Amino acid sequence: MIPAIVYIPDGRSRPGQLREAALDVLELRPAELVLPEATIRDERGGLLFDGSTLMFDPAGGGGPLADAAADRQARAFGVTNTAFHVQRALRFASALLGHPLPHLVVRIGMHNQPRRWHGGHYRLPRPSLTDEPAALSCAGEVHLGGGAGFVPTPDGSRYFHAPSHNVAIICHEVGHHLCRHTADFRLNRLRPPAQQSNRKIALDEGTADFLTAILLGTPDIYGWHRGAIAEWDPRRRKLQPRWTMAHFWGGPDQDPHADGTVWASACWSARERVVATGADAARFDTALLRGMESAGADTAGVTEPTKDALNERGQFSRLLSAITRADPGLAPVVLTAMAEHGIRPGASNAALKEAARADLSGEVGR
Ligand SMILES: [Zn+2]
Repeated sequence: MIPAIVYIPDGRSRPGQLREAALDVLELRPAELVLPEATIRDERGGLLFDGSTLMFDPAGGGGPLADAAADRQARAFGVTNTAFHVQRALRFASALLGHPLPHLVVRIGMHNQPRRWHGGHYRLPRPSLTDEPAALSCAGEVHLGGGAGFVPTPDGSRYFHAPSHNVAIICHEVGHHLCRHTADFRLNRLRPPAQQSNRKIALDEGTADFLTAILLGTPDIYGWHRGAIAEWDPRRRKLQPRWTMAHFWGGPDQDPHADGTVWASACWSARERVVATGADAARFDTALLRGMESAGADTAGVTEPTKDALNERGQFSRLLSAITRADPGLAPVVLTAMAEHGIRPGASNAALKEAARADLSGEVGR
């Protein structure tokens, strides 16, 4: 274990509280940390780590306005902070699943040309990806930008938006790795490893946001860098009871993040309801993860990722049924909470959407 300084999110509009933590590291290379479950690398290189500790200053995120020494501190902190939260997220998932997920590669400072990037994404190998490195890990990679723009802070200062300093973005991308190797919404297990699908559906985005909420301990997962967006605005992506299937759009042209907020919000409601019965929150989390795993493994009669097979995997009701099968004792509580978001077993997303909208117009007309 190596002592490290990292952000622990505290629900306030800042990246988190700086805390000393311990990181399980196998190898410390100049710009890379090799962990048992992941490798975290700053692709911009240089000498970031030359000692035996990982105690760095976040230096306001570093960036183009910082001097070279401050930017180096901020980058070293970014790799450390990312490694800590990736390890924490992967260990959380493997403890509930009872086995580890495949080794995850995380590359920081990616896609910074021609414009700086403050986002993250999860990528699997596919020949048509012309703007990605040639050799992507078949198990999947998280790419984080080098940062772009500034997040205003309440005290009037500003923070360079480096995604490696943003715990919510890190956890969300690990969530896609979890989805790929459990629910496998795109049936990638039936495709050649070098020709996988990177398309993300609402369940994928929603589950990644829900995992983020669990790990951050708040439904307002992007409260720091989206703090200027109102909480009722879908772009804030705060998980809340108001997001029901009436707000779901569906279809390939819609933003899967916005549709995913409905699923994430329903999962959050179900988890809170489970806690209200006196049960541990981990019981719902276990049912979800094991449900995802059984939903992914259930390829009965499907040998190819056909349109119909993929469509079936995108149905909220299918994953809900898998959750209730994973823990039948929780089913009544989970079904009640999900129904309040318009999600019920045995109906397509389109049917749930229509029913929720009909309910809504009935209420308005009353
Ligand atoms: Zn995503």
